[in-house]
Amino acid sequence: MQKVLLVWPEKCTGCRVCELACSWEHEKVFSPALSRLQVVSWKREGVDVPMVCQQCQTALCMEACTARAISRDPETGAVLVDGRRCIGCHMCVLACPFGGPAIHPETGKIMKCDLCGGNPRCAEMCPVGAIEYVRADRVGLARKRASLGYLTRYLDLAVKEG
Ligand code: SF4
Repeated sequence: MQKVLLVWPEKCTGCRVCELACSWEHEKVFSPALSRLQVVSWKREGVDVPMVCQQCQTALCMEACTARAISRDPETGAVLVDGRRCIGCHMCVLACPFGGPAIHPETGKIMKCDLCGGNPRCAEMCPVGAIEYVRADRVGLARKRASLGYLTRYLDLAVKEG
């Protein structure tokens, strides 16, 4: 059974340990700029939301990639980027409504969540359980909707506040 990342923004303290765990796992440095997830903060509302890739069933990033550099891992369900094929056109970044794919600051190519091969460090290291890695069939539809609602609500705010 495949698993998914489930975010609980109401638990998140904004400590950003998840970003550091991610960059260490993938780049062997502690650098939020090299993390595959971003914690977005709205100071006025006092809200922090870990923005994680949704590994969408219909992955717009994959559809937008003309270089066929994006595919799905059949075991974990993660949407993966092949760095050898990526030409750095950034069409996937434009296509994703959740900010999943990010541009590597040094290579200009795409970096995105690969679920750490089935053991996502962000979920493992979050001290308050704001990111969980749970069986997809254990996530109720209501919880999925609530989680996505948070993401889209605060994405809307980000767009309005520029
Ligand atoms: S580690 Fe957990 S509490 Fe800290 S910023 Fe990330 S999701 Fe929020």
